Amino acid sequence: MFRADLHCHTTCSDGSYSPVALVELACTSGLAGLAITDHDTADAYPEAVPAAKERGILLGTGIEFSSIYLDKSVHILGYDYVLGHPAIAQFCSNHQKRRVERNRIILDKLRRLRMPIDEQELSKQGTIGRPHIAQLMVNKGYVGSVKEAFNLFIGDGKCCYDQGMGFSATETIEVIHAAGGKAFLAHPHLLDEGGKWIQKVLQLPFDGIECHYARLPSEKEKRWLKIAAQKNWLISGGSDFHGAVKPQIPLGCSWVDEATFHTIFTQNLPT
Ligand code: AMP
Ligand code: ZN
Ligand code: FE
Ligand code: FE
Repeated sequence: MFRADLHCHTTCSDGSYSPVALVELACTSGLAGLAITDHDTADAYPEAVPAAKERGILLGTGIEFSSIYLDKSVHILGYDYVLGHPAIAQFCSNHQKRRVERNRIILDKLRRLRMPIDEQELSKQGTIGRPHIAQLMVNKGYVGSVKEAFNLFIGDGKCCYDQGMGFSATETIEVIHAAGGKAFLAHPHLLDEGGKWIQKVLQLPFDGIECHYARLPSEKEKRWLKIAAQKNWLISGGSDFHGAVKPQIPLGCSWVDEATFHTIFTQNLPT
């Protein structure tokens, strides 16, 4: 049976598998299709494209952008954009600058609490975020676990957290469209479902919504499938695989079928 996992991360953001290792894992996991959705970067693709060709895996372009809508965080998946399109490339570069500045503020706050981390220790290729800071805090013995780092210090709203400047959900969707892609609302069940805010998020000009996610039980998918039907949105799905960072979530535990894959992905990837 054809299965395609459309949500996974590599070492280019906060996953533990390299792009090539991820493609290999997709192959051994019996997946026929894949989209890599690293946070704010498409850096995995130059390595992943030839690896996928070699192993006969269908690869679509993907990315997961962090965005802000009315002061709250919204993750937006971009699919089927033209690889290397300047609109996406420039936006990714702006995100990397944003992250350097934001991470600097978090490191300052940690330093004031006598948990120094040198900025150089963080620098590596790709997207650097709070998971990397949390891991260094564990390595240095400041906290017992990544979870503790988030719960006590760097989680949303905690004492060493800083949102930094962000890019709006509206601009993010525009950039994905400018690059020929389709914008999907990621893991809607993780958004604050209580108030009117989510209703406003659902008014944004998305092309689709991620209804199948990780180990989300099917009864919890229903609300989002209904919204997709009402709005005539496409439906996506994926595991949000991060490797060792989230060991309880295996690649391919959530997926889309062949027809859905081909409805979302129409671009031919370069050889
Ligand atoms: P950043 O994009 O740098 O702000 O980091 C956000 C990432 O940190 C998310 O994508 C999650 O993978 C991770 N994260 C956020 N909150 C927590 C938490 N409470 N515990 C563990 N990981 C978290
Ligand atoms: Zn992540
Ligand atoms: Fe996300
Ligand atoms: Fe993700």
